[in-house]
Amino acid sequence: MSDDHLQRLLLEQANVRCVVAHLDSVQAEVLRRGRYPDALARLLGESLVVAALCSSGVKFEGRVSLQLRASGAVKLLMADCTDDGGLRGLARFDPDAMLAARGFSEIAQGGVLTMTVEPSGNGRMWQGIVPLEGNSMAEAIAGYFDQSEQLPTRVLLAVDETRAAGLLVQRLPGTAEDDDGWNRVCRLLETVEEKELLATDSETLLHRLFHEETRRLFPARPLRFFCPCSRERVARVLRGLGAEELDSIVESQGEVEVSCEFCNEQYRFDPLDVSRILHSDLPEDGDDNATVH
Ligand SMILES: [Zn+2]
Repeated sequence: MSDDHLQRLLLEQANVRCVVAHLDSVQAEVLRRGRYPDALARLLGESLVVAALCSSGVKFEGRVSLQLRASGAVKLLMADCTDDGGLRGLARFDPDAMLAARGFSEIAQGGVLTMTVEPSGNGRMWQGIVPLEGNSMAEAIAGYFDQSEQLPTRVLLAVDETRAAGLLVQRLPGTAEDDDGWNRVCRLLETVEEKELLATDSETLLHRLFHEETRRLFPARPLRFFCPCSRERVARVLRGLGAEELDSIVESQGEVEVSCEFCNEQYRFDPLDVSRILHSDLPEDGDDNATVH
């Protein structure tokens, strides 16, 4: 099994779902493409795990995005996961404030947490927004589910230099056959240490915790780094800037150079390319996140 994977377990009588996510090469790839201070690298790792955990509840083709906007050391943090396990993430931050920040609440001060579920076809986008509360990302996410979806949820997250992992348990709507099930699951969750979460295979951990419960284990799904940016998407962003802006960039720099903020891929457009962008049809599509230099 890949070291980047997602595993689901349903506790049928307790009416609780459990999800475990492990990130290994995905975490390394995101950190290779963007340089982040250690504390922010940890937060980004946790956010990627949360995006993966939340993607497990989506039953259509599309993407789950976690976005954190704050006025502390972090300005913007984004992590998203597609239904087939493609993950990417980025963070914008104030380097000086980041050096001085102590702990989650100073890093993400005054923050707002947004969760977006976006079907890839014509389906309706769904978005939940809550103030960022709690002393950790795990508490903030549990608070989000309590407030926004009224689903009691507990989350455990663990990150080291190279890996990230998470465990989410959530009481599902409807009555449980076993009405003490949720409390028992919460007590079992408290026995898991961060080190154990990182180092233990998800199936082994779920067995260790819940082998006495009536349970249904689903096959593990692989996770991977994936950014859907392309030259065509960047071209659409550039066209949105308008002829005047593009002409002035070409005049001062000889070309337009763009980098994707998620994966750091560089795209270059010479004057002829720019003229084509302004005067030809480009297919419509959403999701554009690029920075023009
Ligand atoms: Zn990209």
